[in-house]
Amino acid sequence: MKKRNKLSVNALILLVLGFTTVFLAGCGEDGELKESTKEIFAMDTYMSFTAYGENSEQAAAEAEARVQELDYMLNASGYTDEAKEGSATCEIYQINENGGGSLSEDADYLIGRALELNELTGGAFNPCMYVVMEAWGFTSQNYRVPEAEELKQLKELTDVSALEYDPENKTLEINKKGMKIDLGGIAKGYTSAQITEIFKANGIESGLINLGGNVQALGTKPDGSMWRVGIQSPEDSSACMGVIAVKDKAVITSGGYERYFGEDGKTYHHIIDPETCVPAENDIKSVTVISEDGTLADALSTALFVMGKDEAEKFWKKYGDEYGFEVVIIDENLDAYVSEGIIDDYEAQEDYRVTAIEK
Ligand code: AMP
Ligand code: MG
Repeated sequence: MKKRNKLSVNALILLVLGFTTVFLAGCGEDGELKESTKEIFAMDTYMSFTAYGENSEQAAAEAEARVQELDYMLNASGYTDEAKEGSATCEIYQINENGGGSLSEDADYLIGRALELNELTGGAFNPCMYVVMEAWGFTSQNYRVPEAEELKQLKELTDVSALEYDPENKTLEINKKGMKIDLGGIAKGYTSAQITEIFKANGIESGLINLGGNVQALGTKPDGSMWRVGIQSPEDSSACMGVIAVKDKAVITSGGYERYFGEDGKTYHHIIDPETCVPAENDIKSVTVISEDGTLADALSTALFVMGKDEAEKFWKKYGDEYGFEVVIIDENLDAYVSEGIIDDYEAQEDYRVTAIEK
């Protein structure tokens, strides 16, 4: 089992944290509401979440415990943290080691959603990219550029049809030796959705969850105004391209600048095109998906990033209403394309151009 890899904080996280801190700081007028914030490092990223209300302390404490549980459960690389031994299970790691097994409620839900979204996105979202992530060194930080032949062979081990998922009995069999599940593209969105549920169960009506730049807003700010989430420029971590005002929504971004390495003057990032097993390279620099469903938003931000701009726009036109999501696409010229359902809530910063994506 591998040791936890503490990846350095990327600038996006700092920016969004900075933004949310600023916006949170503006909420002080409502002195009545109790506020509890947790700032932790989990799932290879810095996170913070704040609950406002009578039970905010309890809600934040429960949320923190839940994050730790899900971190252990969903991390495909596993952890060796003796303090945790016996109290937490690295379920996905175990499933990968054993070629399958029975699923907890969380893993069952996530495998079900991952397979559904794999199909919906025509394979752009693929929950079996682990061996490819490994080959590029993203799981160990021993980065390298694999040979084409190696990637060709590894592609065989990303074949989702080799998964035998039985939702009735909550079991999963991986019918190819060496193939491994990777829920990295969906886990944080699910986690923020879970924190939202914990907040609600504690009677919290206002809260903000920021899992390394993946934001989920519960209700409005305590003063009744919308939460404001900044979209970072993919090329300048200190520049904000736009701000989205949201209520009861997840705002989840995928971008090549979030995790990458350079070799021979070229940059390789962590979102892999399942067709080629190479980091997706197209006219998109980042995709933000806005939805009430954090799990959906996370999987789709990854998938739309892989698709490229035309396909991503078509995908929104086809499924945006049915599945309940909006998009902000930042292209290679740093132009923003914002789906019409959210454009009134999008405020461009400085001179950044904005174009509506219309049906
Ligand atoms: P995200 O930051 O949500 O876009 O997810 C990126 C993470 O998802 C990577 O670090 C991998 O663990 C995993 N991943 C990479 N490529 C894909 C893909 N095409 N589909 C699903 N998950 C992926
Ligand atoms: Mg994602």
